[in-house]
Amino acid sequence: MSHRVLVIEDDPELGPLLSQELQGAGYRVRWAQTGVAGLTMIREDEPDVIVLDLGLPDLEGEEILRRVRATSEAAVLILTAAHEVQRKVAVLREGADDYLTKPFYFAELLARLEAILRRAEGGRKVRVGELELDRVKKHACFQGQPLDLSPREFEIAALLATRPGRVFSRQEITEALWGTHAPKSNAIDVHVAKLRAKLIDAGAIGYLRTVRGVGYALSKPR
Ligand code: CA
Repeated sequence: MSHRVLVIEDDPELGPLLSQELQGAGYRVRWAQTGVAGLTMIREDEPDVIVLDLGLPDLEGEEILRRVRATSEAAVLILTAAHEVQRKVAVLREGADDYLTKPFYFAELLARLEAILRRAEGGRKVRVGELELDRVKKHACFQGQPLDLSPREFEIAALLATRPGRVFSRQEITEALWGTHAPKSNAIDVHVAKLRAKLIDAGAIGYLRTVRGVGYALSKPR
């Protein structure tokens, strides 16, 4: 699936140009010409990455960055004018992922976006074979097809996926999911059975193994 990029840039030439180039590179792009419009689009679209110009007419780029960091998982690439370079240190401290100084080559913007997205997904997505779990969106898919997992089923899958092939005991899983307020031990078995059935329905046969008397493991079958 292609990544969603939101460009927040007031420059009436640079904004559309960036959008066009990014679309050409395979991204799904929206362009906001003001900070307020940008914040609305962030709420509507949950972009994967935001290309944010610091010098906007209505809101300071720093203010937008703070609001993004408080409400969104999106990565942020800052664009600064040459005379604003001293602001770059501050925005990196505020949680921006990277910055570029204008003027820049589009190829460099593209390379930085790709690097940012790789870093962001490293912490967010877990893959076991063809099973993919997005820990931020709490969303799982197998061979690109979404799985309809309950929150508990997702948590179990995400826990097992942190160490593919390792056997997690019922107690470990129970504590990870419920902490000290653990229900009866067979609650885990019920959730695991449902998770396994959904995996098998999706074609993920042999991914979830039961090790009798020990616990459960998730791995790509040989
Ligand atoms: Ca500007």
